[in-house]
Amino acid sequence: MKKVTSLKNVKNIKSLAIKFSLIDGLAPDKKPIKRMLSEMKGMYLDDAKLDEMLAKQDRIIYEFYNMGMPYDPSELAFGTTILHPGKVGDEYFMTKGHFHEQLDTAEIYYCTKGHGYLLMENPEGDVELQEMTPGVCVYVPPNFAHRSINISDMEPFIMFFVFRADAGHDYKTIETKGFRKLIIEKAGKPEIINNPKWNS
Ligand code: MN
Repeated sequence: MKKVTSLKNVKNIKSLAIKFSLIDGLAPDKKPIKRMLSEMKGMYLDDAKLDEMLAKQDRIIYEFYNMGMPYDPSELAFGTTILHPGKVGDEYFMTKGHFHEQLDTAEIYYCTKGHGYLLMENPEGDVELQEMTPGVCVYVPPNFAHRSINISDMEPFIMFFVFRADAGHDYKTIETKGFRKLIIEKAGKPEIINNPKWNS
C-alpha cells in the first residue's frame, strides 16, 4: 500500500478515522458496550427457556459502540453492532431494539458479515422487514423502531450503522410493549409471526 507521508504536517485535525474489523466488527482502540442474555429478560417469547439458559450460564448476545459523539443534530453517531448467533427456544438471538427519542430521525445499516434481518415498525403499526447479507445497506425510515436478528447458527451478524447524533434511544417502549412481529425458526427456516406477548 502507498505510504502517505506528505500529510504529516496537517495540523488541528478534527476528523476521525476508526478501523472496524471486517472479520469480527470490533474497533481495536474502542470498547464496545456488551448486552448480556440476563439483560434480555422478558424480551423473548419463551421466558422459561431464557431462565433455563441463564441458570446454566450468562452470555453476551450483542455488542455495539457508542463513540461519544456530541448530542447535536449537526453530528453523526456511528459504529458497528455485532450480534452473536444462537436462539432462545425457537427465537433467534436479537437486539433489544428501540425507537429514537427524536422519533423522526432515520438510520443507515450496512451489513459486513453474516445473515440476518432488520425488523422495523412504526407507532401506527406498519411493519417492515429486510433481509441482510454482506454488502446490503438498509435505510431505516424516520419513526420506525428497529431490531436486528441473527438467523445464522454459526456466524456473527455484523452491521455498520450511522444516525443523527442527537436522536437518542428509547428502549422503554419496546421493553414494555415488544414488537408486533417476531422472527422464529420453524422447520429450520426463519418465519415471521405475530407476537403473542405484544401489548398494545
Ligand atoms: Mn437506532
